[in-house]
Amino acid sequence: MQKELTCEQVGAIITFYLEGKLSDSLKKAVKKHLDSCPECHAKFEELKQMVNYFEKSINEKNDTSDDIVKSEYQKRQYAEFKYNLSAYLDNELDDKENIRIKKITISNPIARKDLEDMYSFKKILHNSFDITKNELKQDFAKTVINEMHEHKNNTEISFQKLTFAFFAILTLIIIGAIKLWF
Ligand SMILES: [Zn+2]
Repeated sequence: MQKELTCEQVGAIITFYLEGKLSDSLKKAVKKHLDSCPECHAKFEELKQMVNYFEKSINEKNDTSDDIVKSEYQKRQYAEFKYNLSAYLDNELDDKENIRIKKITISNPIARKDLEDMYSFKKILHNSFDITKNELKQDFAKTVINEMHEHKNNTEISFQKLTFAFFAILTLIIIGAIKLWF
C-alpha cells in the first residue's frame, strides 16, 4: 500500500517531482498530497512559475546568442550543448558525451555562461523548498525516497546494489577518461 506523505517530505522531494525524476508510485503520492494540501499546492505553483520564467529567459538569450555564435560549427556545437545540458548536470550522460559537453563548455564562452546559470538556478531551485536544515536537505530527500521504497523485495534490493556498483565503476571510468583528455 502507498504511504501518505507529510508536507515536510513533499517539500524535500518537490523539485525532483517537478523535474520528473521520481518513480511512478512516489509521483502518485506527491500528486495526491498536492491535491489535498493547499499550502504545498501553492508552493508548487510558485516553483513551477519560477522554472517557467527561467526557461523563458534562457530561450530569449538564445535569440541574441545567434549573433555572437558565428560559425555553423559553433552553432551546431551550441545546440548540442543546450540539448544535453540538463542531462549533463544530472550525471545522466555516458562518459563519451560527458567529455564532449565538457569540451564545448571550455571552448565556447556562451555555453560556459549557460552552464554557470544553470548551476546557480539548480541551486536556487533545490534551496527554495528548505523546510529543514539546509545541509541536510539532499540527504533528507534521499531518506524520503528510500523510505517510500522500503517495501521492495530482495531481488530489487540486490538489483539496486548491482546498479550502484555499475555507476561506481562508470564514475571511475569517467574520471580516468577526463584525466586522459586534459
Ligand atoms: Zn502539504
